[in-house]
Amino acid sequence: SFNPPQIDLKKYIRSIPDYPKKGILFYDISTLLRNADAWQIAAARMANGVAKWNPDLVAGIESRGFVSASPLASALGCGMIMIRKPGKLPGKTISLNYDLEYGQNCLHIQEDAVKPGQRVVVVDDLLATGGTLQASIELLRKVGAEVVGAAALIELKGLKGREKIDVPLHSVIIYE
Ligand code: AMP
Repeated sequence: SFNPPQIDLKKYIRSIPDYPKKGILFYDISTLLRNADAWQIAAARMANGVAKWNPDLVAGIESRGFVSASPLASALGCGMIMIRKPGKLPGKTISLNYDLEYGQNCLHIQEDAVKPGQRVVVVDDLLATGGTLQASIELLRKVGAEVVGAAALIELKGLKGREKIDVPLHSVIIYE
């Protein structure tokens, strides 16, 4: 597999105080995505960390989770499924409400998204409290998935989201 060079990806993440609310330090991945080398290396590091779980499918969480999930599915030769906000998925869906670091959220998945027992890795841009990833893990299980792992570009370690999710996590960039 592609062996990513040792560069510090944190240089490409911009942090913005008090966005979208006072007291939140927002980690902006746009500045990473717009750098071709940094983005390619970040995506390769995610793929290298996840490959051992041997997934059939990668599930991306709307909307910044889709950005990482797509190249990951492509690199691993997996299909991709979308976990989306209300009103976006046609056909029968299953939903879950949960609490967020800033506010509340509801996510949906198509009832027929997964064949029984398919191995799924779920992906988001950033792990904060873990509410979003754990809600997604539960949705995936409701439709018959075996959730074999989770991946995030960024992990905010101090918020202990890793302890909230009940599958192994691979994160590419860690803030203490
Ligand atoms: P949580 O459910 O608390 O783990 O929050 C994760 C979700 O909220 C992810 O989808 C992130 O995109 C977003 N998020 C939470 N905190 C931040 C932050 N400090 N910077 C950027 N995005 C965040």
